[in-house]
Amino acid sequence: MSLIVQKFGGSSVANAERVYNVARIVTDTYAQGNNVIVVVSAQGDTTDDLIEKAKEINPNPSKREMDVLLSVGEQISISLLAMAIEKLGYPVVSLTGWQAGFMTDSNHGNSRIRRILTERLDNELSKKNIVIVAGFQGLNKYDDITTLGRGGSDTSAVALAAVTHADKCQIFTDVDGVYTADPRLVKGAVKLDEITFDEMLELATSGAQVLHNRSVEMAKKYSVNLEVLSSLERKPGTIVKEVVSVEKMLIKGVARDDNVARISVLNLPDTPGVAFKIFSLLAARKINVDIILQSIGRDNTKDISFTVPLDNMDLAVQILNDNLSTFGGSKVVSDDTVSKVSIVGAGMQTHSGVASKMFEALSEARINIHMISTSEIKISVLIDRADSAKAVNAIHDAFMPAK
Ligand code: ASP
Ligand code: MG
Repeated sequence: MSLIVQKFGGSSVANAERVYNVARIVTDTYAQGNNVIVVVSAQGDTTDDLIEKAKEINPNPSKREMDVLLSVGEQISISLLAMAIEKLGYPVVSLTGWQAGFMTDSNHGNSRIRRILTERLDNELSKKNIVIVAGFQGLNKYDDITTLGRGGSDTSAVALAAVTHADKCQIFTDVDGVYTADPRLVKGAVKLDEITFDEMLELATSGAQVLHNRSVEMAKKYSVNLEVLSSLERKPGTIVKEVVSVEKMLIKGVARDDNVARISVLNLPDTPGVAFKIFSLLAARKINVDIILQSIGRDNTKDISFTVPLDNMDLAVQILNDNLSTFGGSKVVSDDTVSKVSIVGAGMQTHSGVASKMFEALSEARINIHMISTSEIKISVLIDRADSAKAVNAIHDAFMPAK
């Protein structure tokens, strides 16, 4: 007998019909003789709606109270799904995150799971119950409700699969797997049968919105057997694993991230310690810096440009302006009309010419590159946001010609 963790996202449980659809997938899995733990997200746009409701009351609520509010969405889903499964005649119990033993740190709104106390879970499984767990939520050491960050239910599911040594963790969503590009954007995008953890992680952090990036990190760390598949069609999805059987494709995906802004600090002194001062100020405020570019020094000055998440731009500019005299630049400029486009593929480690092929595609599409960054398995460029859809298509065509 196997233990299977199945996670269903918000669109998969958006209404009564979808809840029943999920109930049937779960009970079919159970009827095949498996133990099943199910993790669900809040229905449809519930989390966004709750955020709106909060803003009506207080534009700046404490993060603790936000977590109390947002955790409600998942609690609605677990009870409704449990009721549907009851109706289908199967033994079931729903558990909130804390009932399921999720202990987190106290970083409200973006908490990390510290450990999972599995006693209750084990108990319910031994009673042969299907266990439905609320994703995205936990409890800190002061017994306060916490949430794991937007999209965090994926991480709840992978964490449960890891602690229970589940045989597999299936992430059901409204697409049938991981694609070489967003199929809504690129006509010729194809579904991947397999992808490595590292590639999936790079894609997830580059703007592909299939899996929460922390869930991929965790799946890799604990070797969780992960599959992304559709809740609407019963067919195999994409398997995410350490090594894929045959490396057929040079590039696994092209991703676009519009949630970026570029900041430049001009005329900095060309002396040691300047970058340290700038980035430590940003780090202290938990602003994540991505691509960094420093110009060659001339006349003892240099410029440093970097990208930050769009919603951190104003804060970053303010911090830098407030501290301009401590590192000695002349001016801070920002640009919120840029996008990051990335290609990801383990194959590029052993092949040359991948970057030039990407740049050629952009050049032929007459798209200007502002910044470039690379890792072993990823190349990212910063371009004008207005060009980003065209860029993704041009690059995708270059690497994955239509069959
Ligand atoms: N409901 C939460 C969100 O919308 C968590 C999740 O969907 O995974 O971000
Ligand atoms: Mg969601």
